[in-house]
Amino acid sequence: MSNIKLASRVTSIRISPSVAAAQKVRDLQAQGRKILNLTVGEPDFDTPQLIKDAAIRAMEAGETKYTPVNGTVELRKAIQHDFKSRLNIDCELNEICVGGGAKQVLFVALMATVEDGDEVIIPTPYWVSYPDMVIANGGTPVIVRCGEETRFKLTPEALEAAITPRTKWVILNSPSNPTGAAYTADELRALGAVLLKYPHVLVMCDEIYDRIWFADFDACSILGVVPELKAQALVVNGVSKSYAMTGWRIGYAAGPLDLINAINKLQSQMSSCPSSVSQAAAAFALTSDQEAVADAVAVYRQRRDRAHALINAIPGLSCLLPDGAFYLYPSCAGLIGKTTPDGRVIENDLDFSLYLLEAAGVASVHGGAYGLEPYFRISTATSMEIIEEACAAIATACAALA
Ligand code: PLP
Repeated sequence: MSNIKLASRVTSIRISPSVAAAQKVRDLQAQGRKILNLTVGEPDFDTPQLIKDAAIRAMEAGETKYTPVNGTVELRKAIQHDFKSRLNIDCELNEICVGGGAKQVLFVALMATVEDGDEVIIPTPYWVSYPDMVIANGGTPVIVRCGEETRFKLTPEALEAAITPRTKWVILNSPSNPTGAAYTADELRALGAVLLKYPHVLVMCDEIYDRIWFADFDACSILGVVPELKAQALVVNGVSKSYAMTGWRIGYAAGPLDLINAINKLQSQMSSCPSSVSQAAAAFALTSDQEAVADAVAVYRQRRDRAHALINAIPGLSCLLPDGAFYLYPSCAGLIGKTTPDGRVIENDLDFSLYLLEAAGVASVHGGAYGLEPYFRISTATSMEIIEEACAAIATACAALA
């Protein structure tokens, strides 16, 4: 141990619970245990070959130097076109920024705006990183419970009740990690109407999963539905999940010019720019034909349907049908208070997911990590065989509870 005194912005945050869960799986596997891993937060597909080829071409053409801080014109044009054609979002090229993954863009946007004590409204269940990102930037997360009764979505009433003079942001994630719930245009319109009454409140729309879409309504974004929110909305997206490009680290956002300039100013001192080669690959991904995405979505859909049916057939568990993304968020309320074969009581969802790990060899992430209990998250970014085997093992383990 060294004597380094770390900054409170580090000591006040946690390592991501999903990273911790993945580490636990690796530790158990290293001990020789067979673990069916349902904690995975990235596509199990490889990046499509055509995208890799575009990156190779870019390297060979010498695109191996710094790019503009806010991203290449080529990529920003691709983003501008994608936002307009799919989501009806109008933005100028200088109202778009590109960073090292959506995660970095979200973090830097908070860094650019949050003063000590500013509040950020985070609906539950939330992506594990939001509260820690807010805390790391001196803000106060204001957690608003959104349960199954609203399909895990924020209502206009709950939003309005949470707004104070200190509110800086509300974070909307659609489709959601961990529930897969997505907002409809009408729901976004109603939230937008509230936000227009409070011009000091910004809305951060994390739409990183919006191409992995199963719902019978079209993917939509609050800024496309309520263009009057232009001065208040930051729409964040990226190529990680849709194009199986998690390792390429490209995320981006469109928003008010002042905010985008502030994000760029910080990025200029943090990383100068995102990877040039990855930007070329991302531009190709966004502008080429979307067949590989459609193929992946068809596979995710089959897995979602199968996992949803298998989980709902297990007494004590129940699960809503996700609109998008590659997660399910089943409730284990029916099993809380039961006793394991070796006499331990399942007090909460952490106990339940640890029991699944020990008794069924199935790794999941407990709902407490996402701010809403008693649930657990399972990922379908794995093969159908593993999903079926894992659900069978979960069924056996649940049946053994008394
Ligand atoms: N937002 C959500 C809701 C996510 O689940 C993730 C990744 O797990 C990200 C953002 C980060 O994406 P990126 O790889 O672009 O940083």
